Amino acid sequence: MNLQNAVFVRSAADRTSFPADGIPQAAFAGRSNVGKSSVLNRVLNRKKMAYVGSTPGKTVHVNYFLIDNRFYLVDLPGYGYAQVSKQERQRWARLMEDYFSSDQLTLGVLIVDARHKPTAQDQEMAAFFAASGKPWVVVANKLDKLKAREVEPNLALIRQTLSLGEDVTLIPFSALKGTGRDQLVSAILNTVGSEP
Ligand code: GDP
Repeated sequence: MNLQNAVFVRSAADRTSFPADGIPQAAFAGRSNVGKSSVLNRVLNRKKMAYVGSTPGKTVHVNYFLIDNRFYLVDLPGYGYAQVSKQERQRWARLMEDYFSSDQLTLGVLIVDARHKPTAQDQEMAAFFAASGKPWVVVANKLDKLKAREVEPNLALIRQTLSLGEDVTLIPFSALKGTGRDQLVSAILNTVGSEP
């Protein structure tokens, strides 16, 4: 599969615009500034994905990229922005509920910051993935910012805070250095590639 063959398909502001064509979907979520764009670009071996339309952070959208005509890479809207109205937060929650109830998810990828205890909204997002019944993985990004002795305790704190079961893989990752890229790509290809 050629992961560099990524085509922006659409930006969906509500459920009526979600593609429901049976093509497998790998959906990425994470709070703002966690490095979601950097992780996506690292996975796709690209410098910058082409976004059309929405201003990231200003409007809540689900963005779809078709990868090598085989699966959708779904960029779920970031969360945890400092300056959002209650109304925008509610819109985010409703859009997430709609996305998960559309039952199009094949694999979930939750990106958290390797340096910090996951936030309440990270936990909320983890609950969406856990409840989906679909496979999901957690990416602990910005690993390069940790001292060697901090790695194990931080990963343990992430596991514990997100109540990760043994079936959920936690991938130590650095979008900057490329650490964990192969493991994440395998997790994606093993899941989306196993469907017709
Ligand atoms: P997004 O808002 O989640 O899409 O985050 P971005 O991809 O825009 O990254 C936010 C900031 O974190 C940028 O300054 C990135 O350069 C930085 N960043 C992202 N990933 C890493 C990483 O693995 N290591 C380090 N040191 N910085 C990173």
